[in-house]
Formats: sequence, structure tokens, C-alpha cells
Amino acid sequence: MSNAKAYSAASPTSPLASSTIVRRDPTPEDIQIEILYCGICHSDLHQVRNEWKDAAPTVYPCVPGHEIVGRVAKVGSAVTRFKVGDLAAVGCMVDSDGTCPECKEGLEQFCPNFTLTYNWPDKHLGGVTYGGYSESIVVREKFALKVPANLDLAGVAPLLCAGITTYSPLRHWGVGPGKKVGIVGLGGLGHMGVKFAHAMGAHVVVFTTSPGKKDDAFRLGADEVVISKNAGEMKQHAFSFDFILDCVSADHDINAYLHLLKRDGHVVLVGAPEKPLQVAAFNLLFGRKSLSGSPIGGLKETQEMLDFCGEKGITSDIELIPIQKVNEAYDRLLKSDVKYRFVIDMASLKAEV
Ligand code: NAP
Ligand code: ZN
Repeated sequence: MSNAKAYSAASPTSPLASSTIVRRDPTPEDIQIEILYCGICHSDLHQVRNEWKDAAPTVYPCVPGHEIVGRVAKVGSAVTRFKVGDLAAVGCMVDSDGTCPECKEGLEQFCPNFTLTYNWPDKHLGGVTYGGYSESIVVREKFALKVPANLDLAGVAPLLCAGITTYSPLRHWGVGPGKKVGIVGLGGLGHMGVKFAHAMGAHVVVFTTSPGKKDDAFRLGADEVVISKNAGEMKQHAFSFDFILDCVSADHDINAYLHLLKRDGHVVLVGAPEKPLQVAAFNLLFGRKSLSGSPIGGLKETQEMLDFCGEKGITSDIELIPIQKVNEAYDRLLKSDVKYRFVIDMASLKAEV
């Protein structure tokens, strides 16, 4: 076992602070990664503040972070895909049972026995897993992804959650040429959703509560932008969408978007607000509409997404911060004040004693 510098929260109300955690020695199947960059996902904030207390209560201390890019520092004796010095990335999962029907289909995100990257029972050390706000992490080789060599590394980190979480439902629901697609909420997930839906050839409409993001939305690939607080603008799009991806982190009116679907259209939730959303039944009945959800993505699809990004030159638009600014970043995230993902430069952790 070895010590690693990290940032952790001690309670739902305490700020993240410098601390030391223990990492296991790599087993024959593991690699140890020296973390270079880690994205800040809104899920980190929900988890640190215990906003998902019913579905996934937080165990403290909590070390968040599941958008990880780094260099391989050690490899176990049975490792075949990585060698010391290679780039490697880790997303929201670090293990699964490998034997259930979901795993056999490459859909590890639905494995009943998966291990999430943080705040999940740690099979090796006991307690819970610790995430990427840390100088290193040890994971099964199988759960490490290959990073395309041509992309900016800090901009790659958010692909590991914001990227795959939007790519997967867009692919699953067949988004492409001839489809009118809405992306709701231009944050970390939303801005990746716009880039992907545009790259897949769809007609992309961004719904935002922030008029100041309009120009960016067009630059990111939107064909149209709707200020969702403006009822008149919303009405112009009634009954016209094939698919709407809802990336909103807070309470909002989902019925307004169900109303915009065509017959047999889909609203898919990837946002995970703290409070339950209210759905008016008639908004589903008339038009045989569907409301679904989608969590992250499996390993095979995550690699496919990274390779797609390599081919198309897609990365996240980021603001790079030292880890000492993480609490300020959380406050700004809550105000939708980031364009469009904070990424921690993990070299800044070296300054901590
Ligand atoms: P984010 O960067 O904070 O973006 C959320 C966006 O939602 C904001 O930029 C804002 O966009 C909009 N928004 C915020 N408050 C709002 C309100 N009160 N009403 C309407 N719109 C509002 O967050 P993120 O990292 O993209 O994550 C978004 C959500 O997805 C979070 O709940 C997160 O936990 C969840 N998530 C789910 C998965 C999954 O597997 N399904 C994976 C990762 C994250 P505008 O300024 O454009 O309105
Ligand atoms: Zn995330």
C-alpha cells in the first residue's frame, strides 16, 4: 500500500481540503496511474454535499472525481494492454463482476455488482473507493481506457463522464441526419451533447436559461438556440422534436419539454437533480411519448467515444484550475458560471504538504 495526496470532504457542509489517502499495491491485473488531470462533474458536487442521500448516501471522508487522465506508473504482472509511461484514462467505474448478462454484452454500467470510482464499497481495502482528486489511482487494467494521441489531455478528461454520458444515449436512440434533437442545459454534459449531436449530423437545438451562452451554443454546433424561460420561443417548437436530452442538474419543468416532442418522441434524462421531477400523465399519453433515463456508458462504448473524438478532433471546452480553487469552482458550478467544464491540473497537488 502507498499514501497518496488527495482532496476530500469530511462532511456534507465542509469544504474539500488537502488530505492523505491509501492506495493498494497493484495486483497482477491492475495498473497504477499518476493522475495528470481530473474534471469536476456536477455529480461530484451532488455527492460531496450528500444530495443523493436516498439513492447513494455519501460516506465520509469523500474523495470525488471520475474524469481521470494520467500516465501509467506501475503495471501488474498479467497486464497486457498498458506499459509504464502510457497514457490511460478512467471514468465512473473501476470494476464489475464480468459474469452477468450486462457485463457479457459490454454494458458494465448496468452490472448489479459494479464498483463506482468513488463512494462505493472497496473490495480491496474495505471502506469506500476514492476518486480522482488525487495524485494516483489503482484500477483493473480492463477499466482503463486508451487516450487518442492527437487530443489535448486536459480537454480529454471530461470525456470520461460528460462525454460518454451524452454520447451513449445519442447513439442508443439513433440520433443522426434528419433528426431534430434538443439539448437542455448548456453545462458540462450539455456542451458535449451539442458537439456530439452536431458531429452525428442531427439538427441541434439548445435550450438554455442563460442568454449569455447563446453565441457559444452556435459555436459549439447548435443550429438554433431557445431561451427556455421565454414561453413564446418554446411554443414555436411544439410537437417538433424526435429526441431531447435533458442535462439539467436542478429542479425544472420537464413537462415543457415533453410538450415539444413529436408522436413517439423521447425525452431522456441524464441530469440527476436532487428532488423528484413532476410529470403530467397527459403529456405522455397524447403522442405516445417516452420519458427515459441513461447512466454513463460501458467500456466498449467509452472507448468508441474516445476514438470518435480522436477522429473528429473533439474535446471538452475547459477552464483549468489548481486544486486549491476547487471549492470556489463548486460555488461557480452552482451558478452555471463555467465554460464549460472545470478541470483540475493535478500538478498543483504537489504544493500540498
Ligand atoms: P453543470 O455543468 O452544472 O450543468 C448543468 C446545467 O443545467 C447548467 O449549466 C444550466 O444550463 C442548467 N441549469 C442549472 N440549474 C438550472 C435550473 N434551476 N433550471 C434550469 N436549468 C438549470 O452540470 P453537469 O456536470 O453537466 O451535470 C448535469 C447533471 O447530470 C447533474 O445532475 C449530474 O449529476 C448529472 N450527471 C448524470 C450522469 C449520468 O450518468 N446520467 C453523469 C454525469 C452527470 P443553462 O445555463 O444552459 O441553463
Ligand atoms: Zn460525472
